[in-house]
Amino acid sequence: MDAVSITCIRRQRTKKISGNKKRYNQFSQHLQDIFNCKVYKITIDAGFSCPNRDGKLSKKGCIFCDTGGSFSRAHSSLLPVEKQIEASILRLKNRFKAQKFLSYFQAFSNTYGPVEKLKELYDRSLSHPDVVGISIGTRPDCVDEQKLDLIASYRKDYLVWIEYGLQSVHNKTLNLINRGHGFEEFEKAVKLTQERGVKICAHVIIGLPGETGKEVLHTAKTLADMGIDGVKLHLLCVLKDTELENRYKNDEISLLSPEEYVETVCDFLELLPPATTIHRIAGNGLKKILVAPDWLGEKFKVLNMIDRELEKRDSRQGKYFVQTNSLPGKYV
Ligand code: SF4
Repeated sequence: MDAVSITCIRRQRTKKISGNKKRYNQFSQHLQDIFNCKVYKITIDAGFSCPNRDGKLSKKGCIFCDTGGSFSRAHSSLLPVEKQIEASILRLKNRFKAQKFLSYFQAFSNTYGPVEKLKELYDRSLSHPDVVGISIGTRPDCVDEQKLDLIASYRKDYLVWIEYGLQSVHNKTLNLINRGHGFEEFEKAVKLTQERGVKICAHVIIGLPGETGKEVLHTAKTLADMGIDGVKLHLLCVLKDTELENRYKNDEISLLSPEEYVETVCDFLELLPPATTIHRIAGNGLKKILVAPDWLGEKFKVLNMIDRELEKRDSRQGKYFVQTNSLPGKYV
């Protein structure tokens, strides 16, 4: 790692002033504040599988997941990790004037393998001098102490995040969407991860079948109470060749309107601590595999609607966050 990057990591511990102009704590701005430059994530597909797909737990997968592992493999050519990184860096530098990068293991469950294999892949992803951190997406039931020790070992030189697919804290919903794990596995993974000082981002889906608005907000309160560092919010969308597509076509599920989504997102943000980083709040969805809703493609319109709604409420992330006795660091 070069001297500039090490300085960047040190700055992470001291810098307090953010240039954030949003009413929520955008992850991209958070990275800019730490590294003092534009930092982009590079999506990597390292060829992992998932126990909810390969038959260990199930062959069906989560009901919303396509065979590409929730669409992340759909645009991957499975080149060697270094080639994926080089190609993305070139593209992101030219297009967005990005300067530094995080290697982002996104497709499927990126801790689902022997620890030696994980180390080799993570090391290779960090070998480019412009890569200043790593983010690893996985299931909470695919980590153990040895794997988390490995991931935590990168903290001395890099920014390190682990992203757990959770979707909801309610076991009845997790069963309904065939996650193959419960909230208890997430709690256990969070405890082990927080003990090692690795930052955690939780993925949450808004609009899951059978969930009321109140239940979604209970997920927000629970994550706030657990001291989760970051959140990625997704709208429930229907992708081709998924169980959800069958249910949608049989009129068994309904999808949120943009107004309902925006309303729920704003309610959710109000309950999170102001410091929680928001890694995603609106997605675009891959057109070629998206069945519904159509409006998912209008990412900037949705982002503007969220800004306007927070403004209208004269509100912001954390407005209704209540620090409970279990904080700070319930699990530390
Ligand atoms: S855990 Fe992830 S990759 Fe596995 S089936 Fe569910 S969404 Fe797909």
